[in-house]
Amino acid sequence: MPTFDESFSSIEQTLGERFGRPESIAEGSFDSFATAIAVILGQSIDAKKVAKGLEALAEAGLLEPQPLTEADPAEIVDAFKAFGVSLPARVLGPVRRMAAWVVSRQASAHALDPLRDESISTGALREELRGLAGIGPATADEILLLAGQRGVYPVDRATYRILVRHGWLDPTAEYEEARSVMERPGHDDPETLHRLSDGFARVGREFCKPSVAKCGRCPLQPFLPEGGALEPDAF
Ligand code: SF4
Repeated sequence: MPTFDESFSSIEQTLGERFGRPESIAEGSFDSFATAIAVILGQSIDAKKVAKGLEALAEAGLLEPQPLTEADPAEIVDAFKAFGVSLPARVLGPVRRMAAWVVSRQASAHALDPLRDESISTGALREELRGLAGIGPATADEILLLAGQRGVYPVDRATYRILVRHGWLDPTAEYEEARSVMERPGHDDPETLHRLSDGFARVGREFCKPSVAKCGRCPLQPFLPEGGALEPDAF
């Protein structure tokens, strides 16, 4: 069975041919802060609502760290409502904490754009983001990749399932082990990892579902081990 390293370039090419460019909202003309907010919103609401939410915040003058930090929670919720989006309570906290973190970083390190400030290491940023309640490892890494344009791979459940079913990752592996599988030397530029992350997410949604692996029509079918997809007890 080919290793993940041996298959990496072919997988990248296959996903690119099947899905084209990433459809992520973060590809648009948003700055790093707006992109980070979009990533957090995207954990709980669909892409169309994320776009509406960003529009709502911009219209209310809240798509900036300082105003968003100072805004009353009800004001933020109402801004979303005015654009027909109900903001889940579990997202409101992380959104406000993200804004407060940027404000505090700007004040303490004079870093206008801390996520893209090359004087701050990716590891240091990862630790700080993970320290914000409501922002887990995958969300922190997605913020680093999409908003910070750093070469990190956010390991979502779809990536985990695909790696395990293909025998490229042990089912008992922790998050960091899965991340190290995806961040291969020579293939760790943000653009490549963004394309790969988007492609794996789409495979996970359309074919490699938690309950069933629809391998027959999946673009990653040629990369299966002999005997087909491996199925651990549960995902
Ligand atoms: S070929 Fe099967 S196991 Fe592999 S990603 Fe597609 S659905 Fe999942």
